[in-house]
Amino acid sequence: MIRGRFAPTPSGLMHIGNARTALLSWLQIRSAGGQFILRIEDIDKPRSKPHYAEQALSDLRWLGLDWDEGPDIGGSYSPYVQSEREEQYEAALQLLLEQDKLYPCFCSRADLQAIASAPHGLSSEGPAYPGLCRHLTPSEREERGAAKQPSLRFAMPDHPISYVDEAAGPQTFESGAGGDFVVKRADGIISYQLAVVVDDAAMGITDVLRGYDLLDSTPRQLLLYEALGLTPPRFAHVPLLLGPDGNRLAKRHGAISLASIRESGLPPELIVGALAAWSGLHDRTEPIAAQELISSFSLNKVSTAPVVVDDATFKLLGLADN
Ligand code: GLU
Repeated sequence: MIRGRFAPTPSGLMHIGNARTALLSWLQIRSAGGQFILRIEDIDKPRSKPHYAEQALSDLRWLGLDWDEGPDIGGSYSPYVQSEREEQYEAALQLLLEQDKLYPCFCSRADLQAIASAPHGLSSEGPAYPGLCRHLTPSEREERGAAKQPSLRFAMPDHPISYVDEAAGPQTFESGAGGDFVVKRADGIISYQLAVVVDDAAMGITDVLRGYDLLDSTPRQLLLYEALGLTPPRFAHVPLLLGPDGNRLAKRHGAISLASIRESGLPPELIVGALAAWSGLHDRTEPIAAQELISSFSLNKVSTAPVVVDDATFKLLGLADN
C-alpha cells in the first residue's frame, strides 16, 4: 500500500503553490489507491499559529482533498500534529548522539551572519555552515557550554550523496553539500529535518511529493534515515510556480492565498483546473473537481520545468491585485 502525505507548516496562510503540492501529492496517492495523511508541522511553535492550521484544513476540504488518518475526532479525521510528538524526536536525537553523529555548536546568529558571505554555497536554510565548532576539544566544549546553550549539528560525511528523484531525475550532492545542519536548535526546538524524517518513517510514508525548494534537504534527510536505521521513502520534487515576472510566486504577485481566493467567490473547480493545467495535467485551464483528475493522473505527466503563471491566467483567476 503506498502512503503519502501533505505536511504544511502553519506559519502563514496556505497559498496556491502549497495547494498545488497538496493536489499533486494527493493525486499521486489516490490514483494508486493508497492512503494519504495530513500532518501539521508546527514544531517551531513560536512561528506556528493554530488558526493557520485550521485554515489549511478548511482550504484543503474546499479544494476537494481528503485524508485518511489521524486521531478521529467527531467524524472528520484530524491530522497528526508535530508539537504532540516531541518524545519521538527526542528518542531519535538520543540515537544520533549515541552514534556520535552530532556535535554541539556554539556559534551565534551574529557569528553565522559574519560568515554568510563565505563561498560555501547556499542551502534552503541559508549559507552552509563551515564546521567551525566541529573540531572543538572536549575542554573547549565544556568551557563554551558553561556560558551558552549549544545547538546540535549533524556532521556531514565525507562523500557525495546520490539518489534518483521520481520527478527531477538522478541527483548528486557533492560531499558535505549544505554543511553540517542543525537537528536541535539552541532554544531546544527540534529542526524540520529531524522531525520530518522521524514522522515520515513512523507514519509509513512511501512517497513524498513536495516542492523543488526542498530538494536540497533530501540528502540531509537520507543521511538521517541511514543513521536511524530507517527506510527512506521515494522522493518526487516538483517545479515551483513562478509569477509572470519569472520569480517564485509570492505575495507581491497578488492575492494568492487560498483564503483570499475563496473570499473572492471563485469556485474550487476553477482553481483545481488551473493547478492541473499549470502542472501539465491538462492542456488548458478548465474547471474540474479534484476527484475527476484521479483516474488519468500519472507522475510522469507532471511538467519538470518551472511553471510560469502567465499574466492572462493570473488576471482571469483574479489573483492579480489590479
Ligand atoms: N512543512 C514543510 C513546508 O510546509 C513541508 C515539509 C515536506 O514536505 O517535507 O514547507
